[in-house]
Amino acid sequence: DTYEALTPETLGQRLGGIDALTRRIGPDATAWTVREVGDGNLNLVFIVEGTAGTAIVKQALPYVRLVGESWPLPLNRAFFEYHALTRQAARDPGRVPEIYHYDEAQALIVMEYLNPHIILRQQMMAGRRVEGLGRTLGEFCARTAFRGSDLCMQTRQKKADVALFSDNVDLCDITENLVFTDPYFDAEMNRHTSPQLDGVVAELRQDQQLKIVAQHFKRAFTAKAETMCHGDLHTGSIMVTDHEAKIIDPEFAFYGPMGFDIGMLLGNYLMAFLAMPGHIGDEAERAAYQDWLLEVIGETWTVFAAEFENLWHSERTGILYPKTLYEDQGHHPASDAALREVIGEIFIDALAIAGIEMHRRVLGLAHIAEFDTIEDAEKRAPLEEKALRLGRTLVLGRAGFAGIDQVIAAARRAD
Ligand code: ADP
Ligand code: MG
Ligand code: MG
Ligand code: MG
Repeated sequence: DTYEALTPETLGQRLGGIDALTRRIGPDATAWTVREVGDGNLNLVFIVEGTAGTAIVKQALPYVRLVGESWPLPLNRAFFEYHALTRQAARDPGRVPEIYHYDEAQALIVMEYLNPHIILRQQMMAGRRVEGLGRTLGEFCARTAFRGSDLCMQTRQKKADVALFSDNVDLCDITENLVFTDPYFDAEMNRHTSPQLDGVVAELRQDQQLKIVAQHFKRAFTAKAETMCHGDLHTGSIMVTDHEAKIIDPEFAFYGPMGFDIGMLLGNYLMAFLAMPGHIGDEAERAAYQDWLLEVIGETWTVFAAEFENLWHSERTGILYPKTLYEDQGHHPASDAALREVIGEIFIDALAIAGIEMHRRVLGLAHIAEFDTIEDAEKRAPLEEKALRLGRTLVLGRAGFAGIDQVIAAARRAD
């Protein structure tokens, strides 16, 4: 039962006796075809194919894959991924891969193979749309935010869940450092396009107010335990076809601000939007695709707010803003006013997180393919600079945006 990393050669022999797998893949493990396809920063991911079907085997490594054995990372991230997947499946059914088997000691999860899905980042770099993307993500973020919070959950259960996820210390530590701190000083693991961006990077790092606000939101990340967040909801954690989207990879799950996931997502949409000159050469085609990306941004937020409102009226069964406080007021205007204030606060948090995410993806350790695949630094740097500047506008101006349309307008001005 001691942990051992799987290889394509050993996987069949080691997992071939597990019913949940043989039923899905096929009874004879010697006939399974195994490919390691992990392209993420942390884990092993195998596609296992047999006569009966195909499944994904994801296994944690005792270190950060991107960096190597010099950066140890505990195996229990598979535990948090497993528990997050079960909660997301309950809170927004059908949006995360089905789990077939979980082995805590081996830090592995066997799950549904999403096919022919590809990573949303790749879909966007190829200039391809996804029907209903904004709706799916808006609903996912609203349902997981609402149903994982004290607005909905029974407080005993919610507190127990906060306790469970509070052990995800090492992955939270990654976010606390790589997202909220490192980008804002000359940290060792940082990298940026140099010398082209040196000037603007110096400008950001001298911006006291920006650094203060980034730490305000790090404080929110550590202390505002409102709901179970996915924790890593960028466009590399979403798999799509032309008409469907699924969410994967919630190992960073933690209890945090309700605006965290949707904020990180908005930041990634905005970077895809700004990076487009590096991916679509034809100007008219690019403009049309960028318009679609902005529509997705608008729809994601609008659907989030609408779904959150639906749930506020239909599933407000937790300890917060209890209906009994407002019932004597006819159409519940006080409750509606409270809802508006809560959504307004989520929006502000989301914009700050979006801006911080844009900074860390240009300045920190983990960059994004939208920029990194633009090989010519002279072409890449001006686009990255736009992301840095729009990020700052969002962080510092977060409370001044009247709605998502003003964010979209700011993105157009930044482009
Ligand atoms: P990491 O935690 O290392 O980032 P991910 O969960 O993001 O790992 O998976 C890495 C890659 O493996 C994904 O980008 C995707 O290409 C593939 N992958 C992961 N889960 C699935 C799945 N359920 N179905 C199909 N492909 C998957
Ligand atoms: Mg991943
Ligand atoms: Mg990945
Ligand atoms: Mg991951």
